[in-house]
Amino acid sequence: MSKFWSSRLQRTEPYVPGEQPNDTNVIKLNTNENPYPPSPEVQKAIQQAASEDLRLYPTPTLQELRQTIAEKFQVHQDQVFIGNGSDEVLAFSFMAFFEPGETIRFPDITYSFYPVYAKLFNTDYKVIPVNEDFSLPIESFYDAEGGVIFPNPNAPTGRALSLLEVESIVNGNPNKVVIIDEAYIDFGGQSAVQLVNRYENLLVIQTLSKSRSLAGLRVGFAIGNSQLIEGLNRIKNSFNSYTIDRLAIAGAKAAFEDEAYFEKVRKRIIDTREKTAESLSTLGFDVVESKANFLLVSHPQVDAEQLYTQLKEQNIYVRYFNKPRIQQYVRITIGKPGEMEKLIKETKHLIPNMAN
Ligand SMILES: *Cc1c(COP(=O)(O)O)cnc(C)c1O
Repeated sequence: MSKFWSSRLQRTEPYVPGEQPNDTNVIKLNTNENPYPPSPEVQKAIQQAASEDLRLYPTPTLQELRQTIAEKFQVHQDQVFIGNGSDEVLAFSFMAFFEPGETIRFPDITYSFYPVYAKLFNTDYKVIPVNEDFSLPIESFYDAEGGVIFPNPNAPTGRALSLLEVESIVNGNPNKVVIIDEAYIDFGGQSAVQLVNRYENLLVIQTLSKSRSLAGLRVGFAIGNSQLIEGLNRIKNSFNSYTIDRLAIAGAKAAFEDEAYFEKVRKRIIDTREKTAESLSTLGFDVVESKANFLLVSHPQVDAEQLYTQLKEQNIYVRYFNKPRIQQYVRITIGKPGEMEKLIKETKHLIPNMAN
């Protein structure tokens, strides 16, 4: 704390990202990255964009990339906003749509960036306790004073709402913005993008970081009513007109154009998730039903923090959250089949009576 810090800064509690070890021998199952490389077309496009044109600013309107995304989702390009990772899109959305002094709602177990933004932007919030099985109590999100935000599927639980359930929350807040953070939607959930033309208060946010293997490129986007999108553009242009650089524009476009690769990768991850869930259940784990690229799991005989520490000693990184209600759980990102086999093998050694 310094006397030079603004009161805004003093009340802020920054987000703590998962560990990013430098050691390349690590099996990294802690930050929900994709274990497969991006489409080879992405690298080619970025190499081509790494030209003398880098002396020029990138486009501030991102028209071409917005058009590519609009076509994929069958919306108008005025309904697409692109940001430097969906974290930036989320931050801009808090600024654009949540009124300081009006209480917004999100689940108690959810993406830990939401309370960070709320504090930074002076947004009051009320957390809604998720049910015992980690499902969301739908009706508790109706009539929120300041608006609603939640991930679907939720993180770090992996539980997904059906499209009808999402729609009923949107419907239950006709005068406030409902933001659906679909960071993991491509791993088995139903996207709410198809509802944006029917609900002017719905904003859907997605990212290329997870299902398109581009966490390192930093591209996320929002789809909604064109007036919500204009609001986001006004925030962006009051902040930084060039949030997406030339390499990211080229790479993101190439990623969307290689649908076959995208389909192959996401199906592989879903398949590995189902197999891993089965193996962990066999070892006695309670595995939360997941539609994401991770599993939240707990074992009646093994302390979760200890499991996290002991796996780390074996160079396997998973995520442990020292937070109420999930203290006895670890979150395991779905890696390649061989990585998951090693995880299962090491985990087996850490369960009493299963040492062999
Ligand atoms: C990973 C994640 C994001 C952030 O994605 P970026 O596009 O990499 O900033 C947003 N929301 C949730 C729930 C996530 O898990």
